[in-house]
Amino acid sequence: MKTIGVIGGMSWESSAEYYRLLNRHAKARLGGHHNARSLMLTVDFAPIEANQRAGDWSALGDQMADAARQLERGGAEIVMLATNTMHRVYESIEQAINVPFLHIADPTGAALRAAGVERVGLLGTRYTMEQTFYTGRLRERYGLETLVPEEAERADIHRIIYDELCHGNVNSESRAVYQSVIESLAARGAQAVILGCTEITLLIKPEDSVLPVFDTTALHAQAAVEWAIGAQ
Ligand code: GLU
Repeated sequence: MKTIGVIGGMSWESSAEYYRLLNRHAKARLGGHHNARSLMLTVDFAPIEANQRAGDWSALGDQMADAARQLERGGAEIVMLATNTMHRVYESIEQAINVPFLHIADPTGAALRAAGVERVGLLGTRYTMEQTFYTGRLRERYGLETLVPEEAERADIHRIIYDELCHGNVNSESRAVYQSVIESLAARGAQAVILGCTEITLLIKPEDSVLPVFDTTALHAQAAVEWAIGAQ
């Protein structure tokens, strides 16, 4: 089995979920006492989050590249980044390492295509919903049309991620906000919804949503294990 390197800490609440899912999927695939061989580098999220707000994506690219190099030096044979948002700078990571990088949008796009979805709603941070790095990849590589929530809805979705979910605070009023945004996306023609922020899985389970959910955290973790065990 190959060793998976995870750039984590953005936030650690979702990284803990990655850790659990990587191991759970390895066990489901291989049985017995199998784990996923992995290394996780937890960055300090405070300076990262400050750079995001300042729009300093160049500094963020350098920070992610450093983390990826550190994982490669530690023996990682594939690198993954446990946040959708920071994929804005995935090219800096790819350029910094000699091992493959597993982009979070790829297993998600492939799963949506396999399910026959053409028009999908996207929930995530403002950066993920409003910039083109994520929706563009889904369109170009998977032919998906992405619908994002309206401005006021995006503000709520973003605020709940940073002010609540990244602090491990999961509450039912916020779940109701997300549910109503998913309902609006369905009314606008979305056939499914992407949980395009790795903390949303803490708040929204498939049974909470009127649309089928495509959970980037779970899909990304599963794809990494499939790669590590040589099935992909
Ligand atoms: N984990 C989040 C994501 O998947 C947001 C936190 C971050 O800015 O990295 O986008």
